[in-house]
Amino acid sequence: MKPTTNIDIQKIREDFPVLHQKVYNKKLVYFDNGATTQKPQSVIDKINELHSFTNSSIHRGVHYLSGLMTEEYEAAREKVRSFINAKEKSEIIFSSGTTASINMIAFSFGEKYISEGDEIIISEMEHHSNIVPWQLLCERKKAVLKIIPFDENGELIISEFKKLISDKTKLISVTHTSNTLGTVNPVKEIINIAHKINIPVLLDGAQAIQHEKIDVQELDVDFYVFSGHKIYGPTGTGILYGKQKWLEEMPPWQGGGDMVDKVSFTKTTFNSLPFKFEAGTPNYIGAIGLAKALDYVENIGVEKIKSYEKELLNYSTRELNKIDGLKILGHSKDKISVQSFIIESIHPYDMGMILDKLGVAVRTGSHCAQPVMDHFGIDGSLRASMVFYNSFEEIDILIDGIKKAQSMLK
Ligand code: PMP
Repeated sequence: MKPTTNIDIQKIREDFPVLHQKVYNKKLVYFDNGATTQKPQSVIDKINELHSFTNSSIHRGVHYLSGLMTEEYEAAREKVRSFINAKEKSEIIFSSGTTASINMIAFSFGEKYISEGDEIIISEMEHHSNIVPWQLLCERKKAVLKIIPFDENGELIISEFKKLISDKTKLISVTHTSNTLGTVNPVKEIINIAHKINIPVLLDGAQAIQHEKIDVQELDVDFYVFSGHKIYGPTGTGILYGKQKWLEEMPPWQGGGDMVDKVSFTKTTFNSLPFKFEAGTPNYIGAIGLAKALDYVENIGVEKIKSYEKELLNYSTRELNKIDGLKILGHSKDKISVQSFIIESIHPYDMGMILDKLGVAVRTGSHCAQPVMDHFGIDGSLRASMVFYNSFEEIDILIDGIKKAQSMLK
């Protein structure tokens, strides 16, 4: 029996043109949403409209189109502010994605606050983009990176986290939700622990923003980052939210147009927030497309999305567990609709290839989280990541596909 749902899935699917196609003459089943999500028609139309009629570089023009684009770009910033309930619009910096946002903080925060011997804490379940920028910073500054381990369920071990904190800790940067294990981390608890001793916290929200309501003021988080393309917006867009007090104090990380106030060969002064961190012509059409995607999500309702995706998670867990030799990685109490799994005696790549030929798009490999693979002593897994436009019937197709591939590969 399939669970009932409060979401009109057929109506929603009509909004996503990519979903209505066949691959290898099979109905496409798209379960690679953790890598990137598909775009609703409203986002596609908006981007098309802007390119067709209003394109003009923002902020610097006195003419009509430039004014129009500037207004829409700044309205997009306001949309993001309200979506994550930031206090100020100036705390919202547009970037090209999560990776760019983290690198920006690692460079700028690192430049100002990190010195030799200082410590930064991340976790064992981070995406590479929340590992490597800190490794590069630690190398530049001779600082030390410390790692919070996770347990057999894929949950961070908070008692170990507490032991890692010292008077040298300068920043904690953890993922809100794991792209591999699906774990939703106890970020409020982490922030409370850190703030008791005045340590700022950065949350990587790349896999959280599309699954649950984010309120940065309620979380009291210092930095929150995410990518537009994972929340039904365009690629090459992303957000860095930072508390004003940090952003004011942090130096710019890239120099160029728009981020300056006055430029001369003797002294250059910088623009105010958020422009100080937006050097060059930004991806303004992308940013407006992202705002349109947030409208789309809000129209459905974040809570509705969350509860339907929970049903997808529960149903897929039940069905995957029935398959002989299949092991799901990650059994946290609070988990998003992401299933990473391995199958006895079958290489994930071989399974992924056969599923692909059956029209089912899953991801194979390390999911840019090699330390997670090392934890389990494997070099890769399969990952099916589901969102609100996926259906229980599609999960059945995946399950049948796995069984079919199993019989072919054994
Ligand atoms: N962090 C997490 C948890 C992710 O899942 C991803 C994307 N897979 C990233 C960071 C990087 O995002 P992007 O490639 O959009 O910068």
